Amino acid sequence: MRVLVVGGGVAGAAVAYFAAQGGAQVTVVDAGIHAASHVPSALLNPVRGQSGQVDGRALEGLALTWALVRELEAAGWSIPHGQEGVLRPVPDERTRAKFARNLPPALPHRWLTPGDFPASLSPGWPHALLIPAGGWLDGAAFCAGLLDVSGAEVVRGRAVAWDAHSITLEEGPRLQGDALVWCGGAVGSGWASEAGTHRAGTLLTLDRPATALPVSFGAYLAPRAGGTGVLGATFEVPTPTWQEPTLPAASLRWLLNRGDALADLRGVRVTGRWSGIRLSGLVAGRQPDGVWRLSGLSSKGFLLGPLLARHVAGDVLRETAT
Ligand SMILES: Cc1cc2nc3c(=O)[nH]c(=O)nc-3n(C[C@H](O)[C@H](O)[C@H](O)COP(=O)(O)OP(=O)(O)OC[C@H]3O[C@@H](n4cnc5c(N)ncnc54)[C@H](O)[C@@H]3O)c2cc1C
Repeated sequence: MRVLVVGGGVAGAAVAYFAAQGGAQVTVVDAGIHAASHVPSALLNPVRGQSGQVDGRALEGLALTWALVRELEAAGWSIPHGQEGVLRPVPDERTRAKFARNLPPALPHRWLTPGDFPASLSPGWPHALLIPAGGWLDGAAFCAGLLDVSGAEVVRGRAVAWDAHSITLEEGPRLQGDALVWCGGAVGSGWASEAGTHRAGTLLTLDRPATALPVSFGAYLAPRAGGTGVLGATFEVPTPTWQEPTLPAASLRWLLNRGDALADLRGVRVTGRWSGIRLSGLVAGRQPDGVWRLSGLSSKGFLLGPLLARHVAGDVLRETAT
């Protein structure tokens, strides 16, 4: 069976990996630009946002992503990551109560009080939730490792048309397969002129990690490959179409203020900037036109992307074989 995949971000790379594991021959067509998955340091944080929501699939997703990291490293890939936990400081009792209500008993966690806080955390937080199973990883390395280990053929180019069994590339050639999975992310949705909820964000790269553990509330500080760090958030007002991400001066000011609220940034130097767009509105399954789709991973690309890709790839193989 030949499976065609449009997009080589975490969704497409993971679909390719699981489809190949299931015995399919896989071809991935990837334009190789504007992948949200190339976020320099992605958090694996099951306790989301400022209300502490935990997705019902988060624990399974977390375990699968870490298992894949171990598998890729065993296969010789270096995937910069840290699995030492994520710290979620909360600003008041009300927020703590909200977080506590949402925590599933199966999720290992510990509430810290100021006496136990890491020295790097800025003063003023009354409580912090430590999630030992969380962490961070290098998005681009993870995707490249998955694609490589899958053995998929990777075609660099842009698909301009597709249906349930074929892809037409911008340069003209047409690829044929038994099934097609569309994983084009935010930029692909924009190229396809779809309406959607696109949200831009920025990571400032830092010359060193401002905190040993990733720390997240509003924005996040996290270690990154090579002993460096990031300060980032997805914070721009959503737009209905994909737009080249920018960093307005007011956003830069906001991000630096959020960073200061999390840790003492004196002495830390900003070395660069990475901006991307993520797409909301999860779709995982076969569409009425017969094209399969995994998109709209929002801010949970690395937490849930591989798990959802395993489901989609399994369904593709099962339903295409019958
Ligand atoms: C600032 C920011 C911070 C984030 N932080 C986190 C985090 O901490 N933790 C987390 O889990 N998630 C995080 N995310 C979200 C995460 O990055 C996304 O959910 C995820 O990367 C989306 O993956 P994807 O594979 O769907 O799309 P993408 O990674 O965008 O990949 C799509 C790929 O498809 C290609 N493509 C599209 N259309 C075509 C076409 N027609 N032909 C050929 N190729 C095509 C593109 O070039 C691209 O390479 C963050 C996102 C942003 C923007």
